[in-house]
Amino acid sequence: MTPTCPYCQQQAELVGGAAIYPHRQDLADKRLWNCAPCGAYVGCHDGTETPLGRLANAELREQLEVARAIIEPIATCEPTDVDPIHKRVRYVDVQMNRTEIAAMQAWLDAMTKETTNG
Ligand SMILES: [Zn+2]
Repeated sequence: MTPTCPYCQQQAELVGGAAIYPHRQDLADKRLWNCAPCGAYVGCHDGTETPLGRLANAELREQLEVARAIIEPIATCEPTDVDPIHKRVRYVDVQMNRTEIAAMQAWLDAMTKETTNG
């Protein structure tokens, strides 16, 4: 199913990795849904045409990078080695939401890997 661009409501176009990442030979085999007018795109799950998520423009890709930088240390920290200033908040996050955080991290990893390595 062809995804619709969330910015301009046009149908996205399926392109190869070279169209998005001309300097990345290792990504040439990737398939991505692209909206040329918006510069928005999203990768596909490997071996499929199923988008990893919604199309992301430059602004969202930047925001995903920021979110990933915040999530990563939370997802990997242990309650015993956190910064004392944030200990309480992060302890609760880690104890109560480790599964959710891990899922979010995996999603952010996939999104950022597919959308920001150009
Ligand atoms: Zn668009």
